[in-house]
Amino acid sequence: MLKRFIPKQYVPTVFDISIQGLKDAGIHYIITDLDNTLVAWDQANATEELEAWFTHLRKEGFTIAIVSNNNEKRVKAFAEPLNIPFIYRAKKPLTGGFNQALKLLNGRKEEAVVIGDQLMTDILGANRGGYNTVLVVPVKPSDSVFTKFNRIMERRVFSAMKRKGLIEWDQIDSRKR
Ligand SMILES: [Mg+2]
Repeated sequence: MLKRFIPKQYVPTVFDISIQGLKDAGIHYIITDLDNTLVAWDQANATEELEAWFTHLRKEGFTIAIVSNNNEKRVKAFAEPLNIPFIYRAKKPLTGGFNQALKLLNGRKEEAVVIGDQLMTDILGANRGGYNTVLVVPVKPSDSVFTKFNRIMERRVFSAMKRKGLIEWDQIDSRKR
């Protein structure tokens, strides 16, 4: 059961993901969460650094889609100016949103990676769907009640995985990214 929560990689921020590493793994499609993965949950638009990252990824041959549990208004306002296709109200950890995104990109699952900041939604869902996964540390602690509950569960899952020797890393605190 715990194995479903193990991300393939765990990094402080999306900028720490090795682009060469993705290429070497045959990855061409990036399916990413929005809130607290790309920007803080309460930040409307991409930062300059993030825009530059997307530009670089595209130059390197990657295509990108956003899969978010948030509503249409939020996800559309963020993704449209960047020309990134998106799925909103994805109901992660259900796997449908990831599969829809892959279809939008016309991609193959083996060539896709899912990036997210939550074990209970992003990583659990992506693993269930058979995707490669990268967990990032949340950009900013969230205030939503639902996310707070998920975070409590997440801390338990993290320490259980560590205790059982399933992962080697400790959970990184948002403030220490
Ligand atoms: Mg998130």
